[in-house]
Amino acid sequence: MNTNAKILDGKALSQKIKGQLKTEAAAFEKKMGRKVGLAVVLAGDDAASAVYVNNKIVGCGEVGIRSFELKFDGSVTEKELIKAIEKLNKDSDVDGILVQLPLPNHIDANKVLGCISFKKDADGFLAENAGNLMLGNPALSACTPCGVMELIKEAGIGLSGKNAVVIGRSNIVGKPVALMLLEQNATVTICHSKTQDLAHYTKNADVIVASVGKKHLLNGDMIKDGAVVIDVGINRVDGKLYGDVDFDSCLDKAAFITPVPGGVGPMTIAMLLKNTIKAANLYALK
Ligand code: NAP
Repeated sequence: MNTNAKILDGKALSQKIKGQLKTEAAAFEKKMGRKVGLAVVLAGDDAASAVYVNNKIVGCGEVGIRSFELKFDGSVTEKELIKAIEKLNKDSDVDGILVQLPLPNHIDANKVLGCISFKKDADGFLAENAGNLMLGNPALSACTPCGVMELIKEAGIGLSGKNAVVIGRSNIVGKPVALMLLEQNATVTICHSKTQDLAHYTKNADVIVASVGKKHLLNGDMIKDGAVVIDVGINRVDGKLYGDVDFDSCLDKAAFITPVPGGVGPMTIAMLLKNTIKAANLYALK
């Protein structure tokens, strides 16, 4: 039994990264005579989305990125949103564009997101950026998977030859994080809702990344001693936040584990800011 699991502190690491980004943003400003810019598009009145957008705008301020907030009410049309995005694509003060999801039900989110220039795809969701990740080319990669990889790197965890199990195959977390682990020479298994006997895979895993959206899906009986357990899940139950991992029951066995909140969550925003600066450095027109 291992009672010394190291807790991977995403809040502290995100602060450290934001410090580095502040220097990078200032260097860009000095060179280009303007700040790096991120436009955040919010449609409708979803309370959680408003909080997320606010956190992103605060993050921009912390590192010296200029933020542009575009708010639309819930009755906005697809055409209006697309028109706004096309204008942002052409705006030389804007390096990154983020459309906060979910969009109102009558809007085809894929159609709207698909209008963002891949050069300004701060979330790293578009086909061109996802494809470049698969090909191993430099890309604006999805933020949460990048955050997971930064946490692993900061802890000095070697991945080469390790068995990694990713639970969940979403386009924004599961699939890209699996590719990133593969790039680091891990042997990767992706599990999903049709996987039979999930514990069979997780018990053999050196590294587990859980991105499912089910409170405490993974517990201590399902992991081996010394496992690295990364919890992406955010499940709000009776006003409290829970991960996909039963933290307490894994604590005795895991070598490294992320808490919820305070693990992967804060890293996502730091990676969004990093992507925006990367986009500016790669593609700024001036
Ligand atoms: P998603 O699109 O909701 O997909 C969930 C995935 O979990 C699917 O691939 C699904 O399989 C799989 N799944 C469902 N039940 C399962 C089970 N019993 N066993 C194994 N796999 C199962 O996922 P997501 O967008 O990646 O989000 C997942 C969670 O992470 C949510 O709680 C979300 O709020 C959170 N999240 C957090 C952050 C952050 O910044 N911390 C960022 C993004 C997401 P199928 O494909 O077969 O349906």
